[in-house]
Amino acid sequence: MSDCLFCKIIAGEIPSRKVYEDDACLAFYDIDPQAPTHFLVIPKVHIPSVAAVDQENAGAVAHIFTVIAKLCRELGLDSYRVVSNIGEQAGQSVPHLHFHVLSGRDMTWPPG
Ligand code: 5GP
Ligand code: ZN
Repeated sequence: MSDCLFCKIIAGEIPSRKVYEDDACLAFYDIDPQAPTHFLVIPKVHIPSVAAVDQENAGAVAHIFTVIAKLCRELGLDSYRVVSNIGEQAGQSVPHLHFHVLSGRDMTWPPG
């Protein structure tokens, strides 16, 4: 999608601090980190949010979770939180599916 911020990051039109990239996904550090380690993992195909996941695109989501597990192992993270906000009330500010990976500090439950 031409006017999507994360599609522009995927295209290299907006710079990012890359953690990992393959044919299907990109992981990059959040510009406004909420924990000592905070990166985002996004599919290269434009999916608006978890609410738009279906049988057709679910493979991209499954792949992202294998990448999260692998990256966290490689980064030595043994405790972390994976979050995806869906819709305005839940705090979604970028309408391109993304999973936040947060680690390195104590976290509370329930989230705010
Ligand atoms: P959301 O609020 O939709 O759950 O998450 C969007 C995230 O994208 C936020 O944590 C925000 O800091 C991050 N973000 C917004 N714009 C940029 C950007 O240009 N570069 C990077 N690396 N992160 C961004
Ligand atoms: Zn997009």
